Amino acid sequence: MKNRLVVLGGGESGVGTAILGKNKGFEVFVSDFGKIKDTYKQVLIHHEIEWEEGGHTEAKILSATTVMKSPGIPETAPIVKKLKEAGVRVISEIEFASAYTEATIVGITGSNGKTTTATLTYELLKQGGLSVALGGNIGKSFAEQVSESTLEAQETGEEKYKNFVLELSSFQLDGIETFAPHIALLLNLSPDHLDRYDYKYENYIASKFRIAMNQTEDDYFIYDADDVEIAKWLEKNPVKSHKLPFSVTKELKEGAYIKNNEIIITIQNTNLAMPIASLGIKGQHNQKNAMAASTVAHLLKIRKATIRECLESFQGVEHRLEKVLKINNVVYINDSKATNVNATFYALDSMETPTVWIVGGVDKGNNYSELLALVNEKVKAIVCLGVDNQKILNAFGNIVDKMVETQSMEQAIKAAYRLAERGDTVLLSPACASFDLFENYEDRGRQFKEAVRHL
Ligand code: ADP
Repeated sequence: MKNRLVVLGGGESGVGTAILGKNKGFEVFVSDFGKIKDTYKQVLIHHEIEWEEGGHTEAKILSATTVMKSPGIPETAPIVKKLKEAGVRVISEIEFASAYTEATIVGITGSNGKTTTATLTYELLKQGGLSVALGGNIGKSFAEQVSESTLEAQETGEEKYKNFVLELSSFQLDGIETFAPHIALLLNLSPDHLDRYDYKYENYIASKFRIAMNQTEDDYFIYDADDVEIAKWLEKNPVKSHKLPFSVTKELKEGAYIKNNEIIITIQNTNLAMPIASLGIKGQHNQKNAMAASTVAHLLKIRKATIRECLESFQGVEHRLEKVLKINNVVYINDSKATNVNATFYALDSMETPTVWIVGGVDKGNNYSELLALVNEKVKAIVCLGVDNQKILNAFGNIVDKMVETQSMEQAIKAAYRLAERGDTVLLSPACASFDLFENYEDRGRQFKEAVRHL
């Protein structure tokens, strides 16, 4: 009898896993409690994969040898509980797919900066001439790319991709058993998604550190040495791999740091130096992202000149401190992806002129106190954009003179336009999720850009 793979969730990672499973000889069944997008249905039909939507047929699911649970489905979902009670193996796409490839894997996690750093790392390796794919929480699923890569190996004897750069969320790491990236990056820690972790920050931290749990002495662990939570955790729970820290505050014997306005990377007595001013992406957080990504490139022996060129030309990813337009000498910046306070902290920190700040949306239990000093220093006016703005009004009412409430992007941009004077910056950095007024953060960012272009 064939091994039976059941895939819970018919989105990008679910459909990719189904395709890989089918190619590897599994009998595959995809089950989605909600609706499956038409484009994905067509892919499933094309690959002759059985699927259902709008509910779960338990008998078909509980008879699985392996279940791949999509990252959006919580451990507390009734079907997941039943599977666990029945002793069925439940894993993530990353665990399933990584077992089929021999490629070198760079795994990138952290509370903020994953997409930026993963994209930059991918660019560095690609421009350095390596055969590399980008996947995980970004773009085309890792599983589907492993499928492509190993199908090519069947024909030519060589996998299509020798390297994978993976953006990994804590949910994807929760579902791993043996997955071990050769190079693991932990960019930073700040509270996020606590609703999925029993509202315990330490559970979320433990989940992030799973990225290193199966690593050996031959692997590398790159991390922010300035992050207090990471340092605390490492003291109690040492990792086995070779640690390569990065820091913007102190000089390090090995790793990446800043000296005389240059980024220095030192690994086993080889050095790379690069002026901060020539980085294409701005802000202290992006210096950290650049250090982390270039450490990977340096480890994988990309030429120094290529690393420098790539860091100069890389302009970041859409919706992350993205410069949209300058109108009447006011710069408009789209940071819609800032869905938590920590991301907004770095956005405000990188502002160089008086700022009209558009903030708000669905509050995730935000604590705004860490923003007070920055807001005091940089923000001249606040435009609240959300269904419920009270918490923001309460937090900043005493320190910002001008605060207005708006309930659509159009209103918000008009208000910001009126409040901004020549030389100012208008920054959308919501610190909140977007689901009250928008489909998602991309929709919010696109509406921002459209409204700005219509001014
Ligand atoms: P993620 O994929 O982890 O959500 P992104 O690269 O998409 O990270 O960036 C998300 C938000 O966080 C953006 O607003 C961005 O400007 C901000 N950000 C990027 N890198 C960092 C960092 N290292 N620390 C804090 N915030 C960051």
